[in-house]
Amino acid sequence: MRSHRSFAEIVAEVVSTPGPERVVRPGSFNREGELFDPDGGLLVRRGLLTVGGARHEVRRGARLAWEGCGCGGWAGCAPVWVDGPAARSLAADGSPRLRSRRNGAPTWIDLWQGEAGPVVFAHGEVEWGDAFA
Ligand SMILES: [Zn+2]
Repeated sequence: MRSHRSFAEIVAEVVSTPGPERVVRPGSFNREGELFDPDGGLLVRRGLLTVGGARHEVRRGARLAWEGCGCGGWAGCAPVWVDGPAARSLAADGSPRLRSRRNGAPTWIDLWQGEAGPVVFAHGEVEWGDAFA
């Protein structure tokens, strides 16, 4: 189904939807599988990113998060948030790399959106400078 609404409108609607009391877990997922930025803003998943897309979004000011086990971030590990200046300096230097190792962790990058802006969320064996070491 195609929507004529902008993604910002969709986010605003999700954020303001009164539901069962929402447990805000800043910088992490709550039990219901909702992800929050470090300020407690609810995020909505937009889709997958290429490595070039990830670089582009961070250069434009997206926040950057990473979880290294490849679980998606909701299985108990805590996402690591890279601070803004460090993230932009990584993006200025180049794109991340997805290391595809046999028996390695599931590895992908996705884009999330909150009212405060977009978030690039890297999973698994992503290499970007020394940020995810
Ligand atoms: Zn994980």
